[in-house]
Amino acid sequence: MQEAMINKAKQLLADGTVNRVIGWKKGEFVYDITPAIFETAEELDADFVYNEFTAANVSKYLVKESKKEGKILAFLKPCDTYSLNQLTKEHRVNRDNIYVVGIPGGPKLDAEKIKAKGITGITGIKNENYTLKIETVYGEQTMPFYEAISDKCASCKSKKHVTYDELIGEDGDVLESNRFDMVEKLENMTAQERYDFWRAELSKCIRCNACRNVCPACTCEKCVFDNPESGVENKAASNSFEENMFHIIRAFHVAGRCTDCGECSRVCPQNIPLHLLNRKFIKDINSLYGEYQAGEDTTTKAPLNAYTTDDCEASIVHERGVE
Ligand code: SF4
Ligand code: SF4
Ligand code: SF4
Repeated sequence: MQEAMINKAKQLLADGTVNRVIGWKKGEFVYDITPAIFETAEELDADFVYNEFTAANVSKYLVKESKKEGKILAFLKPCDTYSLNQLTKEHRVNRDNIYVVGIPGGPKLDAEKIKAKGITGITGIKNENYTLKIETVYGEQTMPFYEAISDKCASCKSKKHVTYDELIGEDGDVLESNRFDMVEKLENMTAQERYDFWRAELSKCIRCNACRNVCPACTCEKCVFDNPESGVENKAASNSFEENMFHIIRAFHVAGRCTDCGECSRVCPQNIPLHLLNRKFIKDINSLYGEYQAGEDTTTKAPLNAYTTDDCEASIVHERGVE
């Protein structure tokens, strides 16, 4: 796949379709891969990488990149195409300046799950019949592939690309996903148990802002958390109220726009399952206003943006299951 992608990028650069490429480049370690811009065939040959660890969604970078001169080639996995569609719907990207090549997605691997098995000093990795053969500085180690799958891929909602200019490989389908299972478990807890669960998680937050910065739904030019007049500006939380507030505000700000891309949880250095907050909103929107998948298209109005006289007042008069 990596070779096909490099060849496609070189071809589109050479024929002038695009003047740069957004993809991923090698880091210090085999699993340490970051989004990067490539402008020449030489740069692609030297650094472009696509492997089991290229989980990062590059859609958000297109907010700025699509406003620059010339077209940019973006390689998007199925989940990433939902983010781009949502950004297009919100007029945050100039879709005409983006050439999307859809690529097959995961499952991607989570290096932390491999390290949690005591496997360190990783220098290379191969998937042989769903067994990972992991080269390390201490010799080869093995572990089952499925035990290292990233959480976002383990509950994948779709292998279908919802926007692209061309595809490498076959397109997939929307999947039956288990993504609301944990939300249901939380709903079945008592209020105190649920509060304790979230306090245990949110108290770990070091307010690094990675979740906000990576989120394709968080593209406000002036974020409330950067405003020194707000009283909630960018700083470490000083008490549990501030810890809760940051996450509650952010979850409300992306409600109805979160595509469930899973990036917030993926990048959190404290392993806080932030996606569960957003999935609760998604599940509630589905049950209160009808099934809706943010980013599925660029035209339909989102339930939270479309008032109808039949709408329930979820927090005031609506009782679940009672019409
Ligand atoms: S990424 Fe994690 S630690 Fe950083 S601000 Fe978000 S929740 Fe807190
Ligand atoms: S809140 Fe998390 S899952 Fe939702 S769009 Fe943002 S990064 Fe993706
Ligand atoms: S946290 Fe709210 S204000 Fe800040 S970027 Fe996200 S949506 Fe915008």
